[in-house]
Formats: sequence, C-alpha cells, structure tokens
Amino acid sequence: MKGFDFEEERIKQEITRLGATRVLLQMPEGLKPDAPRIVEIIEKQGALSIISADPCYGACDIAVNEAQSLGVDLIVHFGHAKLVLQEKIPTIYIEARATVAVKEAVEKSLPILGKYKIIGLATTTQHLDTLKQTRAMLVKAGKTVIVGNCGQLSYPGQVIGCNYSNVKSVADEVDAFLFVGGGMFHALGIALSTSKPTIIADPYDNRAFSINDEAQKILKQRWACIQEARNAKTIGVLVGSKPGQKHFEQALSVKELAKKHEKTAYLLIAKEIVPETLLEFPSIDAYVNTACPRISLEAPQKFSKPVLTIDEFMVTMDEVSWENLLKKGLFEN
Ligand code: SF4
Repeated sequence: MKGFDFEEERIKQEITRLGATRVLLQMPEGLKPDAPRIVEIIEKQGALSIISADPCYGACDIAVNEAQSLGVDLIVHFGHAKLVLQEKIPTIYIEARATVAVKEAVEKSLPILGKYKIIGLATTTQHLDTLKQTRAMLVKAGKTVIVGNCGQLSYPGQVIGCNYSNVKSVADEVDAFLFVGGGMFHALGIALSTSKPTIIADPYDNRAFSINDEAQKILKQRWACIQEARNAKTIGVLVGSKPGQKHFEQALSVKELAKKHEKTAYLLIAKEIVPETLLEFPSIDAYVNTACPRISLEAPQKFSKPVLTIDEFMVTMDEVSWENLLKKGLFEN
C-alpha cells in the first residue's frame, strides 16, 4: 500500500500543547494534495490554518518570513526531518514516513548487488523505518551491512539532497551502496559523493537498478561546465535567501577569489534560482551557486550559462584539482 503517515493526532496534540491559534502548513510537492484535509482537521480544533503554496524542497527552507508576516504562532513542516535551527517561530516536523512495502524492490536488488560483499545502506527520511527489514534481507543473502552514522543528520543511514555525510563516513569500508527509495536524485548524490557503485531499490516502481552510468554522465557534464567557465570574465555569485541556503560569508570568499584571478564578480540574492532569473543578466558569463548545490547539478542544459558549485569554481580557478574534488566528493557534506 502506498501512502504517508501525516501524524494527525500529534499535530492536534502539539496545537493544544502550544496553544497555537494560527498555523502555517508547509509541504513538498507530492504531499500538498493532502493539505486541505489537514486544514480541516486543524480548523476543527479552532486554529486558523494557512497553506504555503510555494515550492518546498527541503528543511533548509522553513517559511519563517511568511509565518512572521501573517502572525503565525506555529509552523507545521511536512516531509523532512529537522535541519536548520531556527527558534523564531515554533516548528514541528512531520516526517511523513512512507507506508509503501520495500520487500519486492530489495529482492530485485540482490542479483545486481551480486559480487559485492559489504553493502552500505542508505535512504531518505520517508523510508527509514524499512532499514531494519532491508538489512535483514541483505544479511540473509550473505552480505555484511553497514549503516553510516556520523551525527550530522537526524538519523543513521539518512541522506538528504545536499548531505551525504552518513554514506561518506563508511565509503572506505563498503563495496557498494544500496539506496532504498524512489527516483534517482538521492542515489545519484550517493554515487557522486562516494564514487562507489550505487544501486537503487525503488519501492514505488518495484524495481532495482544501478545508477553508475548516470553518475558518469553527470561527471562529464560537470567537467564540461568547469571548462566553459574558465573563459568567463564576469562571475555571478548566487546567494540563496532561504534560511538554510544563505551562505553569505562563502559568497564573499568566492567574490574575493574571483578578484584574485582578475574576474569581475557580482553578488546576487534570490529565493528561487531558476534559469529564467539568470536570463536577465546577459553580461554575466558564469555563475557560482552558494545556495542549494543541486540546483544545476543534474540538468546543466536548462541553464544558458555554466552554474558551478563553490568546489567546482575552485577547480576552474586551478585552486583544487578535479581529481582531488572527485576524491572528496561533489558535495561539501
Ligand atoms: S539545500 Fe537543496 S538539497 Fe539541501 S535540503 Fe535544501 S533543497 Fe534539499
């Protein structure tokens, strides 16, 4: 059965406990269709409820400014575990654990894992409850299983789009990683962070497959972007205005580095960094993105100019070698 646990009872209890009268609901795409149903539950309790209709891609993006402007006294954030410490508005995190069964997809991953003996196991918040079952299935198939836990994220084995610290912490010990979850996004992150064979067990499509070819394709694209950016005379340094994406000090360092290499750098701040936004600045030759590192990573062709991460810019400026960046992994964490 497919579905997510919205923890309605906990939401009601927290509203009562905190005496909240005005609640902002924030959900990623995919969960939003359930928002009106949650509003009805909350309003039966006597609290006004407002749905944030803006896109929400992670717990880096708590809608604090919107909540403050509306006089909200509680934010209910769905679909992600706590990430950014903000204490301006009380916030509860409803992690929306998935109820989909993973058994068939994990079974299908076993022949692909074939020759690999030691397997690193990872997943997103939604499927953390299934790690125990997956581990047992792998052990029964004769594998040794390692689940990384280096303490940066809320749970062992957890990965998020920009933080692979748990898998990186065990990468040297494993032969391959098995990622349990839907889509290629997080598994690609594992492969690009660790350079290890990475296999997806996707419980939504009940299939398993290797992500290695896709990761190699992305690395070629990233190298092409780095090469193209070498010719840039003007650099746009992108600063994200979302609470967990604002890295202004790093942006200032990038501007300084650009100056050292006789490039002109402009600082730009934006909430959503999308291709259309950057089209307004035709005189800028390349961008360095200090906000969400996934913005251009997998689909550089959507942007008309190269959009690099800070580490990639360091390679462009010959401050770091490409080989060393690959060894370290494409993500900071
Ligand atoms: S910065 Fe990007 S990848 Fe990281 S949590 Fe936010 S949206 Fe996800």
